[in-house]
Amino acid sequence: MRLREERKRICFHCANIFESGETEWICCPECGHRVSSRRYHLIVDRAREAVDYGYQYRLKYEEDFAAEGAITRHYALTPFDEFLTFVAVAAASGIVGNLSTDLVKRAVGKVREALRREEKSETGGKLTALLDDPEKMKQFMDYIDAYFTCFEEIEPHVRAAIYEEMIVDRVSPTMMDRLMKACPKLKVEQAQESSPFTQEEIFRMMIEARRELSRRPGLKPSLFDGFWEGVEPESEQNRDTE
Ligand SMILES: [Zn+2]
Repeated sequence: MRLREERKRICFHCANIFESGETEWICCPECGHRVSSRRYHLIVDRAREAVDYGYQYRLKYEEDFAAEGAITRHYALTPFDEFLTFVAVAAASGIVGNLSTDLVKRAVGKVREALRREEKSETGGKLTALLDDPEKMKQFMDYIDAYFTCFEEIEPHVRAAIYEEMIVDRVSPTMMDRLMKACPKLKVEQAQESSPFTQEEIFRMMIEARRELSRRPGLKPSLFDGFWEGVEPESEQNRDTE
């Protein structure tokens, strides 16, 4: 479950990464390109889902399934940093938006550069290591591709476990939200322990979440028109600009 507010943004034109609050328009301080918050989230939230469910949970469940022949455990995995979401946005621009591999690579290169500048020693450079490992990156891109194009072909036990995870992640915030409204003085930790909902209410919320999942809007290719046009070729990016 994701509780922390994400403020890191990527510019769809020049792939610059910057911070911004929740405003109606998200404007890049580097090139001035702006995008409505609605369009931004339509794309970025789906890319984040692809990273969470299509990559992270899938890897974990595949590992368990391979080891035990069944999936018996569920996890609450810590979400990856938003940098990986941006790589998935670049991947989606190629997969869904049919942009050229060259443009996609340029965007990924720009994200990698920004990550290198920012990744601190406490994370041990884990994400940089992933982005720099061609084999792991290929797997990441393949899994993001599968999430957007042929999720139904994933091993059925693994897919079922991922769907269950998606449903739980959608139901929990709704329950928390309703609970906090009903008892504003309740502390979050207490709220997480107590379960004031009847079985029927929980069941109804599960059904709603499942319905919402099956209605997930597909991303249209036209959403990616003009993406990365302001990104310089990678050789230019490597110049020291500090
Ligand atoms: Zn920009």
